[in-house]
Amino acid sequence: MFKAGQLLTLSVHSLTDKGDGVAQHNGCPVYVSGALPGDEVEVRVTLARPRYAQAELKCVLTPAAGRRPDFCPHTACGGCQLRVMDYPAQLELKRELLLDALTAQGVSCPVSETVGMAEPFHYRNKAQFAVQPGPSIGFYAKQSHQLTEVKQCRVQAPVTADITALVYQWMREQAVSAFNETHHSGCVRYIMVRDGTHSGEVMVVLVVAEEPAAGALELLVEQLAGVPNMASVQLCVNDAAGNRVLSSQVRTLWGKDTIADKLDELQFEVSALSFYQINPLQTEVLYKEAMRQASLSGNETVFDLYSGIGTISLYLAPFAAHVHGIEIVPEAVADAERNAARNSIHNVTFHTGAAEQQVPALYEQGLVADVVVVDPPRKGCDENLLNTLVQMGPSRLVYVSCNPKSLARDAAWLCAHGFELVQATPVDMFPHTMHVETVALFIKSQ
Ligand code: SAH
Repeated sequence: MFKAGQLLTLSVHSLTDKGDGVAQHNGCPVYVSGALPGDEVEVRVTLARPRYAQAELKCVLTPAAGRRPDFCPHTACGGCQLRVMDYPAQLELKRELLLDALTAQGVSCPVSETVGMAEPFHYRNKAQFAVQPGPSIGFYAKQSHQLTEVKQCRVQAPVTADITALVYQWMREQAVSAFNETHHSGCVRYIMVRDGTHSGEVMVVLVVAEEPAAGALELLVEQLAGVPNMASVQLCVNDAAGNRVLSSQVRTLWGKDTIADKLDELQFEVSALSFYQINPLQTEVLYKEAMRQASLSGNETVFDLYSGIGTISLYLAPFAAHVHGIEIVPEAVADAERNAARNSIHNVTFHTGAAEQQVPALYEQGLVADVVVVDPPRKGCDENLLNTLVQMGPSRLVYVSCNPKSLARDAAWLCAHGFELVQATPVDMFPHTMHVETVALFIKSQ
């Protein structure tokens, strides 16, 4: 039995999906935030349940091999879960998480070393700061809406600090309220900042629950427009309950509707509502690996499913006969079409809709892909889609995944239906977090 306040000495053996250390005490798990596998720790029980406990770390008695000092003063922030693990250990952990997920589903293949970053800081091109009464601006603590004020963040672009400082000052001077989640009242909810890492262009989206006074808004726009490289200032009105940051009600207050960015030789426009990979340096690595696995000869019809703003489609197109991109968000498809034109790439067609509906419909019309690339959201691919892909029988299927568990589930399904998983490469898109991105190659069994 656990008791709140109880002191325990524990050996941590693994991490949860959220990055908490796990140890055993009398056969029951104890979850310890900030503890690493290999640590010997002293902890105090904060939540006692019959079959498990949560505990806070009091001290590390013997550190794990990869333990390092925390690089960030915002200890309560839930953004980076692996701050006390050195970078080589993070890369090895991510490879193991992928291997474990595949093994749990009974599939196996050679898994390469995780491809890491040379300089794993300030890598994000998109920040979403929450705003709460105070005003306080920052990020939520782990699994909560408890806000940790963050002025400088080591993984965000340095320009985000200037922008949040400016919005903070404006809210104080103009007495603009912050949104109160409990009472569902007030104005400013989030500040989203996107920067085109290669272009330098910056976009700010102020997310509000209600329109601020026109005069006050004008003042803010004027100030934001003065931030170096500002290209787009937008307002998003989102008064819905729940966790979604943006609503579809977005309008440009100043500058362009999109910002530009470059990946390798390709130019892209990104609008506020479109998905765009958040680590541009590693995106180039990820896409090149997907290209290598796709191994195109120039004659293939290729499907790029979950195509976003068309990035992977446009990487593939010069090496294929034709690429069909399929994406559910209409704004992203509009960006994709503009991006194809901007790069003078004409052998691509973008289709708006759910992959699990569009692919069966296109297949029924007689369109067959020789090679398929999928890049689904965390939940993975719909079985209806996988079914159609199996009937279609492409020679190669490249699976770009942001979730080893759904990748492993879909891999087991594909391997039971005529495909072979031949290789998986983890690419570190999100240093210091538990997120693992993978590019995996399936080939049609003979
Ligand atoms: N390949 C792109 C986008 C990957 S993110 C890139 O690398 O940037 C996943 C994308 O899938 C998002 O753009 C999301 O809007 C889209 N999406 C989500 N569910 C979908 C579905 N059922 N069918 C098609 N696209 C979907």
